[in-house]
Amino acid sequence: MVLSLVGSSGFYGGSKVREHPIRIYDTMTRRKRQFKPLNPPEVTMYVCGPTVYGEPHIGNLRTFTSGDLIRRWLTRRGYRVIYVMNITDIEDKTIRDSGAAGKTLREFTDHYTGVFLRGLDLLQIGRATAHPRATAYVPQMVEFISGLVEGGFAYEAEDGVYFDIDRFPGYGRLSGVDLSKTERTERVASDSYDKEDAQDFALWKKATPEELSRGIFFESPWGKGRPGWHIECSVMSRELLGETIDIHAGGEDLVFPHHENEVAQSESLTGKQFVRFWLHMRFLKVGGRRMGKSLGNYVSFDQILEKHSPEALRYFYISTQYRRPLDFTWQAMEAAENTVRRLGNTLDLVDDALRGPDDNLDYGEREDGLLKSVRAGEEAFGAAMDDDFDTPVALGHLHAVAGAINEYITGPANKGALAEAARVYRGMLGALGLFEERRGPDEAADRVMAAVLGLRDDLRKAKNYAFADMIRDRLTEAGVTIQDTAGGAAWRMSKG
Ligand SMILES: [Zn+2]
Repeated sequence: MVLSLVGSSGFYGGSKVREHPIRIYDTMTRRKRQFKPLNPPEVTMYVCGPTVYGEPHIGNLRTFTSGDLIRRWLTRRGYRVIYVMNITDIEDKTIRDSGAAGKTLREFTDHYTGVFLRGLDLLQIGRATAHPRATAYVPQMVEFISGLVEGGFAYEAEDGVYFDIDRFPGYGRLSGVDLSKTERTERVASDSYDKEDAQDFALWKKATPEELSRGIFFESPWGKGRPGWHIECSVMSRELLGETIDIHAGGEDLVFPHHENEVAQSESLTGKQFVRFWLHMRFLKVGGRRMGKSLGNYVSFDQILEKHSPEALRYFYISTQYRRPLDFTWQAMEAAENTVRRLGNTLDLVDDALRGPDDNLDYGEREDGLLKSVRAGEEAFGAAMDDDFDTPVALGHLHAVAGAINEYITGPANKGALAEAARVYRGMLGALGLFEERRGPDEAADRVMAAVLGLRDDLRKAKNYAFADMIRDRLTEAGVTIQDTAGGAAWRMSKG
């Protein structure tokens, strides 16, 4: 029988970028296109980050989990992703709510930035290459707006500087807003508004008396004031990633007006294409409706964590593709929790078998069957991820690989073949950001535990059962579960 190694052409290190065409749905062209970055293997990716004015919202966290997943997969496929996710710390809502809380803007946004980053860590969402705060880029924003004014794309009004959407012929292309059907009578000063209200939008807002009294303002050629929300991302994206970026992503609610306005500002100033691929993540809904504090169907991240593991929430998110709507229910969370437990159980069984006796050193039909299944699963998993990050299909292949491993372990395990299968399985889990904190067997821990369990065995032989049981109880307290098997005592770390 000819041996073949699993994963030699897989998605681990050394795979060539060009061998794996990735297709991504682009909102601008409204179709799936083959992904080609401007300067491979480098990929520049910008995700609109949170407005830091409240607890993390499980709807927004879905968007950021999707961004993380996309970045992971591109990295797996050999790209070097430079990933920027901004922190919106100055716009209408942060100013309003910090005032209501009696805090300075900085105290208020620092607090919620910390809360947000903790959420990322819990969900195993990797930190971006940079998380720029909007307030750190105001001089560059002033310069950008000045360029738009000089070019005739923007004008000063009594309360601020506005972008003239008539000067950008492509306005509406991203979101499909039809300007001929919109009655254009006035400008819009607010950061958020609907398609029906497409108007000239604020690039710079002159300080209000409240902002002046609270010290929330910056100097500019148009007097004291602050940037509008839309200009912030255009400027941070350009400063950190350049004038044309490969991927710009965000929640579906950002298509209009936020991203439409970003395109208009950026392309008017530079005369270059701003973004090569526009990705938009669908909302998380509750009972078929958009989740919102005012709708009374709001579920916070902390409420989830009271009942479930962050791993289960991550699994729940990726059980649906990022571009499809996802409906939150507690039953769905329960199901995700059970599924994640099963996937983790396979890792436990593998660890036990790799620690167990060496009673199979051969390579036969069972080993060949295992590695063939695992290899096929790995390839199909990769193909699904290449197809616009189709996680539900990929998860199906992950479960098939787990099933093949589970079945193999029911018999005596060839540790070489099993370790190879487990490496592929861990690789798939890692691509999805699941069970990252779990490593393979730890040799040092194994040796210490062998000594402790040997001692317990000696005590039992000497009929000192009380002491032997005390060792087991103390280990249980320390999170180590002992199981007596025919081949001796086995141990595993229980999940904390
Ligand atoms: Zn943005």
